[in-house]
Amino acid sequence: MQTLSDLIDSFHLHAICEDCQRNTQLDINALIKKLGGQTKVKQIRSKLRCSVCKSHTEDIRVVYVGAENKRAIFQYRR
Ligand SMILES: [Zn+2]
Repeated sequence: MQTLSDLIDSFHLHAICEDCQRNTQLDINALIKKLGGQTKVKQIRSKLRCSVCKSHTEDIRVVYVGAENKRAIFQYRR
């Protein structure tokens, strides 16, 4: 569960701004197109910037949403 390719089926990524608490869901498909499927989550951390307060944030939550056809369980991971 480290690279974008590993995450795309069953996980969502959310970036949390430490300054204004804005929670933004990241588009994993777009990230793979831009950065490649072998990009690790920790590499994305250094690229994030809040779109509201322009603060640099490194807080990413990986949210388990399950397989596409049975999304019931939510679980937060770091
Ligand atoms: Zn912010």
